[in-house]
Amino acid sequence: MSDITLILLGAGSASRFKLPLKKQWLWSNDRPLWLQVADNFQTVHNFESTIIVSSKEDIHAMSNFADYHFVEGGSSRQNSLKNALEQVKTPFVLVSDIARCCIDEAMVSRVLLAKKNKSCVVPTLKVVDTLYFENSPINRENAKIIQTPQLSCTNTLKKALATQEKFTDDSSAIASQGGEIIFVEGSTTAHKLTTIEDLAKLPCLEAPSRRGLTGFGIDIHPFEEGKKMMLCGVEIDVPFGFKAHSDGDVAIHALIDALLGASGLGDIGELYPDTSETYKGADSSLLLKDTLRRLENLGYVVGNVDLSIIAQTPRLLNYKQAMRFNLAKLLNLRPNLVNIKATTAEKLGWIGREEGVAVEAIATLYYYDWTQL
Ligand code: MG
Repeated sequence: MSDITLILLGAGSASRFKLPLKKQWLWSNDRPLWLQVADNFQTVHNFESTIIVSSKEDIHAMSNFADYHFVEGGSSRQNSLKNALEQVKTPFVLVSDIARCCIDEAMVSRVLLAKKNKSCVVPTLKVVDTLYFENSPINRENAKIIQTPQLSCTNTLKKALATQEKFTDDSSAIASQGGEIIFVEGSTTAHKLTTIEDLAKLPCLEAPSRRGLTGFGIDIHPFEEGKKMMLCGVEIDVPFGFKAHSDGDVAIHALIDALLGASGLGDIGELYPDTSETYKGADSSLLLKDTLRRLENLGYVVGNVDLSIIAQTPRLLNYKQAMRFNLAKLLNLRPNLVNIKATTAEKLGWIGREEGVAVEAIATLYYYDWTQL
């Protein structure tokens, strides 16, 4: 069994990465970046455990992909690392950033081989350009560029971070405690992904797969007198609506479930619980917008959607086009990619007895194609 835990930090907001998706959710073939990074580390060493630090919302999605250990990040890199260290049981810890996404296996091996008690092993690069400090040139032979991953003695690192002082990496924290810093040769392929321009410098990133993902959703609501009826965000002119915790837009609920199905994110009740006061009387269009924001962050693009509304009453023929255009606007799709079908239940069962409405929806998603930038 290994005496090393791997910590991968990816909780930053990535504000310098000017794309709708988060950089850890760029798709490389059919894996998100963070998963490719975590998997590639496992090919170098059989870590005792792998901890991935991210935001609460990302962890909800990440935990469906693989059996790694997920920890919620803090307000800074240092606080995120402290949260992760609380979970570490091994004497050594290897810390890297998900943004340093192209793993040079030989470099990781060099770091692991230099392991020593009460120390921090750091990969470094030589400075090849002329270097100035303020207005004077300095001897570049004495300068080093520091990279990750860094291998630290867990207790030494924990102690070093237990102050109010801010450090930009683990080695500077350990150096402040008088710990030994061991330098090993770094790697020029271990470039950090910070801006869109960096994408061209990262050969390990493959174009996203053109795989289409399909999801299905169904929802049912009974009628309730005196409530406004909303379907696909369009008000239907009848004296009754749907009994529900939210506004009862049964069509949007089915569509949200189809979108969550395609992205593997669970179901509407998980994200917007009907026991929560937040969603009492909620406008379902806003829930759909929030679902779309989540999908966009995770690098998904909606392909098309198709809905079947099964209603004995009301008659929906005259509303179908308005529903199509309204949903298309919400989904930011051309209206031909949003199909609305309405059918009756031929007077059979509870729908036939005009007690409520059922809606079925299907949606396809694709991965955001960052190669077209
Ligand atoms: Mg519902």
